[in-house]
Amino acid sequence: MVGYLEIYVKVHVTYFFMIRKDLINLLLDRPTRLSDLAQILDVSPKDLANDLDHLFKSLKRSDYKIVVKPATCLKCGFIFSKNKLTKPSKCPKCKSTWIDDPLVKIVRK
Ligand SMILES: [Zn+2]
Repeated sequence: MVGYLEIYVKVHVTYFFMIRKDLINLLLDRPTRLSDLAQILDVSPKDLANDLDHLFKSLKRSDYKIVVKPATCLKCGFIFSKNKLTKPSKCPKCKSTWIDDPLVKIVRK
């Protein structure tokens, strides 16, 4: 189990540094759907949401910031919370599952 844990930590840290540098290039002035981004980086949307959370915090001291366009219901126009980075399964207002993913982009401050 110790071996397993070490490998996991190593992979995760490498991925995190990779993601931080690449994400800035990838998302600079380019709004991208979270599901597309997860696919590009080959991670689950849930892991991506966690990593973006860390990235938000680490970017606070940098020249960049992340802008999030919240997920929206394409049926009734309901706008989900900006803090919810994973795609909601259905709209709380009209129960539709026709939901547009949140979009993220990075801009210079
Ligand atoms: Zn709706």
